Amino acid sequence: MDALARLHSEILACRRCELEGLLPHPRPVAYGHMGARVMVIGQAPGVRTMIAGRPFSGPGGKLLRGWIARAGIPLEEQDRRVYFTSLTRCYPGKAPKGKGDRKPSAREVELCSPFLQREIELIDPVLVLLVGSMAIERFLGRMPLAEAVGQLFSRDGRWWLPLPHPSGVSRWLNHPEHRALVEEALERMRELLSSLGL
Ligand code: SF4
Repeated sequence: MDALARLHSEILACRRCELEGLLPHPRPVAYGHMGARVMVIGQAPGVRTMIAGRPFSGPGGKLLRGWIARAGIPLEEQDRRVYFTSLTRCYPGKAPKGKGDRKPSAREVELCSPFLQREIELIDPVLVLLVGSMAIERFLGRMPLAEAVGQLFSRDGRWWLPLPHPSGVSRWLNHPEHRALVEEALERMRELLSSLGL
C-alpha cells in the first residue's frame, strides 16, 4: 500500500472525536490521488459528502467545481488534477441555531490537523485554494474575507488563493462587489495555472 492509501486508511478508521465526546458517530471522508498540483482545503464535509464519501459532493461543491472549471481545470479532469480535502474529515452535524452545518470546534480542527499536514506533505501542491474563512485563517491568519478573496499569497514555497465558502447558506456571495472579488480570484488562478503550465 502506498503512503497516501495508508494515510486514507488511517483517516477512515479515525474515531478521535468520538473518544473525546465531540462527535457521536464519526464517518470520516478521505479521497484523492497522488499527482495533483492543486489542493482545495475546505472547512468540513457536508452531509452529502459524508454519504457519497467524496469531498465537495453537495451543492456548494458543485459551485466550487464550476469556479475551478472556469479558472482552467475542466470538471472531468478535476479528480486527477485537484486534491480536495478539508480541515476536518467528519460531518459536524447541523448548527444548533440557524441554518447550515455546525462549524467544527478548535479542538476538532486540532485533532484532525495531523492528517491534513501529512496530506500537504505527500501531495506537495503548487497552489492551494483555501475555501472559507476558517481555512483562510488557519493558513494565512485572520483577515476580512473581502480583503482576502482576489489576492494571491506566496508562503512556504506555495501559492495560496482564498475563496469564499460556496455554501448556499452564506449571504456573502449575494453582494455584487463580492462576486466581483471571486471573479478576480479566478482570474489570478487562471493566470497562475497558465504561467506555471499546471
Ligand atoms: S474529524 Fe478528524 S480527528 Fe475527528 S474523528 Fe473525524 S477524522 Fe478523526
